[in-house]
Amino acid sequence: MPRGRELVVRAKRNNAIDIGGETVNPGDRLSLELEIAKLYTHAPLNVSIEVLNGKLSGPTLLICAAIHGDELNGIEIVRQIMARTDTQKLRGTIVAIPVVNVFGFIHKSRYLPDRRDLNRSFPGSERGSIAGRMAYQLFNEVISQCTHVIDLHTAAIHRTNLPQIRANLDNPEAGAMATAFSAPVVVDAALRGGSLRAEAEAIGIPVITYEAGEALRFEPYAINAGVRGVIRVMRHLGMLRQSRRKLPYKPVTARATRWVRADADGIFRSHIALGEMVSKQQVIGIISDPAGSQEVEVIAPQSGILIGQQTLPVVNEGDAIFHIAFFSQSDDLIEQHLEGYRDQVKDDQDDELKWGIGTLST
Ligand SMILES: [Zn+2]
Repeated sequence: MPRGRELVVRAKRNNAIDIGGETVNPGDRLSLELEIAKLYTHAPLNVSIEVLNGKLSGPTLLICAAIHGDELNGIEIVRQIMARTDTQKLRGTIVAIPVVNVFGFIHKSRYLPDRRDLNRSFPGSERGSIAGRMAYQLFNEVISQCTHVIDLHTAAIHRTNLPQIRANLDNPEAGAMATAFSAPVVVDAALRGGSLRAEAEAIGIPVITYEAGEALRFEPYAINAGVRGVIRVMRHLGMLRQSRRKLPYKPVTARATRWVRADADGIFRSHIALGEMVSKQQVIGIISDPAGSQEVEVIAPQSGILIGQQTLPVVNEGDAIFHIAFFSQSDDLIEQHLEGYRDQVKDDQDDELKWGIGTLST
């Protein structure tokens, strides 16, 4: 299917897809390995790619996680999406990469062994560093064959994020995917050179980035919101049937976001939680010495919503500790939407609890 045409009016039989030297026929699912490098032991290091080729034609959606190797929530999101997908009913193709940065994943690290950030290394180079070569193979073998991308992230180590979508809203297709995902907050984020998002968009593939939770953890709320968001985007793209279920909230688009930095070194105590509304001049945290004397208040510069914060209680002066999003809509409306979102996540979690943690699937 040509890029840019999203809705499949009458589904035709899908075509076979060739990835990494393998052919996957319509209706089939295949696990394949893309050799990325060799370890010191000379054992090959592969990126595992799952191709779920629907029986009927439609978009080719890449869902990838752990480009930063310590960001784990997305891995579980990808697993749940695959467990729920029936290739006999799927329109189009899912290309799923649960762990993109296998090096970082093994070492529980964001980076590659050369300390480079894979998400600043696209589209890569055939004869470059490890990061460049890895990016090159992924970009040319996999990403360039896809029509749409959902890239799953969490906050960096010692930070946590409210579920949010980052997208270039100047790109109408990326904007429509961002709205369809229905995370509580959408951030219009500039494209950074070398990122998967920027380089895929440069060749006409719309990308949205989902950010939720913290590194090195599985967090049910972040995973639940992610699974549901990916399914909504698949519905929007015509890959799955539409649902009649109405959401109890609308995602809101931030006008701007800003990090609040620590004004002192010391022990940091937060007074607010993710998703909470703060007002201008509100005391949102305290920094003190370990004994609790010499307290310095952390003040909200403007009213907005807390979309990210540091979880490590020790800070140096200048550390970014709170990430606040500002909106054009009224505080009441924003609060109403967030409440609707929280209620839905809670309902979903109650559902999951009946099954017990660890069997969150299907
Ligand atoms: Zn990340």
